[in-house]
Amino acid sequence: MHQPPIPHVRGADPQIADLIESEARRQFEKLRMIPSENYVSVAVLEASGSVLTNKYSEGYAGRRYYEGQQFIDPIETLAVQRARDLFGVEHANVQPYSGSPANLAVYLAMVSPGDTVMGMALPMGGHLTHGWPVSVTGKWFRAVQYGVRPDTGRIDLDEVRDLALRERPKIIFCGGTAIPRTIDFPAFARIAAEAGAVLVADIAHIAGLVAGGAHPSPVGHASIITTTTHKTLRGPRGAMIMSTAEHATAIDRAVFPGLQGGPHDHTTAAIAVALKEAATGEFRAYAHQVVANARALASELSERGYRLVSGGTDNHLILIDLTPQGIGGKPAARALDRAGIEVNYNTVPYDPRKPFDPSGIRIGTPAITTRGLAPEHMPQVAAWMDAAISAAIKDDDAAIERIAGQVRDMLAAFPMTGFAAQP
Ligand SMILES: *Cc1c(COP(=O)(O)O)cnc(C)c1O
Repeated sequence: MHQPPIPHVRGADPQIADLIESEARRQFEKLRMIPSENYVSVAVLEASGSVLTNKYSEGYAGRRYYEGQQFIDPIETLAVQRARDLFGVEHANVQPYSGSPANLAVYLAMVSPGDTVMGMALPMGGHLTHGWPVSVTGKWFRAVQYGVRPDTGRIDLDEVRDLALRERPKIIFCGGTAIPRTIDFPAFARIAAEAGAVLVADIAHIAGLVAGGAHPSPVGHASIITTTTHKTLRGPRGAMIMSTAEHATAIDRAVFPGLQGGPHDHTTAAIAVALKEAATGEFRAYAHQVVANARALASELSERGYRLVSGGTDNHLILIDLTPQGIGGKPAARALDRAGIEVNYNTVPYDPRKPFDPSGIRIGTPAITTRGLAPEHMPQVAAWMDAAISAAIKDDDAAIERIAGQVRDMLAAFPMTGFAAQP
């Protein structure tokens, strides 16, 4: 059953209680390999589910527009202080509702409609909010986009430099959603300086790796850093903007009153708890284990003939081009999910197929590492993935069912925060 237990939801709304319980069990029984997902601690869940959700607190600690902030102010101050200490930044704002609003606040703080901005194209591994045409950031700004080289699958920093010097963007985003390699923050910083742009590092995917010392930090290179709190950082759904003191006021004003109303104080408390957890030696070990697992999985998949974008991974994420297997990303992802392995279909760079039916799948190790899986388990995970994809190609439903059962049996031995197998 769900942890903490939800008897009051059951009493008030059995329909929703059943669905929450089913989701908890689903998370327990599946290899959850969507790289942006994780399992938070019960402490984070408790803080998220607390009476703090009852409070309004527009403004910042000591400067609120509502009374009754005796306990909210110290909660937000603790969250901010912990973010500053953990990442070593001068300023942190923990109020953005999520990663996309955090990035919008950066635009609001730094540029005006029509200004030139630069980011990585979505199909190359960037994020919608880095200037992709369907996003407000591509509609209201003049967005120029960089990508990866077709031969290496890696960012071509010479191309980034040429584009920046030619287009003179006011801000340059680095980071993304499907980048399996280390982001070269010092190189981006040199390019931004040369082009007269402000560098923004969006570390939503890798924040936990940065905090745990398993990926280089953008601090000292990017003067603005945005991140979600719910991916590798293993906190509640939310976001933070960190910056040098120089941009602190502009960022704070952009978040409130520029873009948002009252902060979600229950989320702020849960962020504070997650940041405290992320400052421990245990979390450092976790971050390194995430990378070790991804490396082990990547090498197993390569050996089985899978084409990995960029040839492998340096972080938590692997992007697989399924063209050699002769199956699209979508049917593969669907079959994997039925086999108890949850991934998402994804475009690969220079994908000849449509975004809604692309050539690849994106997988990651943050959640299964939280669950306790180690490199020694990765050959089995790769074998199941390979078997499920082969079964999908042959329409072998029985094989897919069989794998789902084996996954369930294996995972029964790995406890999940948020779920108790025995009530
Ligand atoms: C996830 C992500 C975001 C957006 O986060 P949401 O909370 O989904 O809005 C922004 N940037 C990057 C790089 C991301 O990976």
